[in-house]
Amino acid sequence: MTDNSISGRTRVCGVIGDPIEHTMSPAMHNAVFRQLGLNYVYVAFRVTAGELKKAIDGMRALDIRGLNVTIPHKVAVMPFLDHIDLLAEKIGAVNTIINDRGKLTGYNTDATGFLQALAERSVEPRGKKVLLLGAGGAARAIGFALADAGAYPVILNRKEELSWAEELGQRIGKAYNIPVGVGELKEDNLKDALPDSNILVNATSVGMTPNANQSPVPADLLCSNLVVFDAVYNPFETRLLREAKAAGAQTIDGLEMLVWQGALAFQIWTGQTAPVEIMRKAALQVLKA
Ligand code: NAP
Repeated sequence: MTDNSISGRTRVCGVIGDPIEHTMSPAMHNAVFRQLGLNYVYVAFRVTAGELKKAIDGMRALDIRGLNVTIPHKVAVMPFLDHIDLLAEKIGAVNTIINDRGKLTGYNTDATGFLQALAERSVEPRGKKVLLLGAGGAARAIGFALADAGAYPVILNRKEELSWAEELGQRIGKAYNIPVGVGELKEDNLKDALPDSNILVNATSVGMTPNANQSPVPADLLCSNLVVFDAVYNPFETRLLREAKAAGAQTIDGLEMLVWQGALAFQIWTGQTAPVEIMRKAALQVLKA
């Protein structure tokens, strides 16, 4: 499908957020629509917080088939939907909406995309101890996803916002009836927790461009029996992942999660399996540009 073949039958998908200019989703989804010859188009809409309800009303009125939802709307959008998937309900955030003849259902494919990124590398979270760094939006989806998959997360966040981590830990613990340790993100706690952990997840923004020379974990604490996942995808290989690789650990980059959240959204909207390689290639092209 090329832009020239947009017709009266073209189905519209898109992403809403504010800001939205730097999103990689249009490149990923349009590449797949073209590849599979699907009569769909994907566009980015800047929607301010005050216009969110109107935007969702517009989704119904214009029969937009699917929307991704990004910062700052993932929580605020929920009351405007007709149905919320169980995992998204527990997380308290939605990043994907499907419109079935005016009935809107919300999902969280950040969470399922993260789990799929692990599964693709044969990493089984069930029964594993996971050290999760951060307590923001990404950490929230990842923490619930881990508990949902039977893992035991321990959350470390920087001191200033420790109450966020405490609240997140309590919510996950209550939802899954598991103990969730919470602490300050500092070297002593990393030293204590890492030898006991099977998987390390960075869900902070530490190491993201323009601070690509930073890492949330000192290199000498990394070891070969860890799986290290970094949610940061810009740069594609972070300092944490480079140092983890050098220590002999298995590493998984944030682009995998980004691509899988897109692939799972695509499957929800079209009912077809997404060719993830095409999505990854399109995302990498945008990153390199
Ligand atoms: P967010 O809600 O703003 O949360 C940022 C987190 O990073 C918070 O826990 C914050 O701690 C922590 N943090 C920020 N600066 C820090 C520092 N200097 N030292 C220690 N901790 C620090 O952002 P988000 O949406 O969760 O995104 C976090 C990262 O994940 C970003 O790089 C984003 O691009 C990436 N991400 C990737 C995907 C993917 O699909 N791969 C999806 C979503 C996000 P405080 O609470 O103390 O502020």
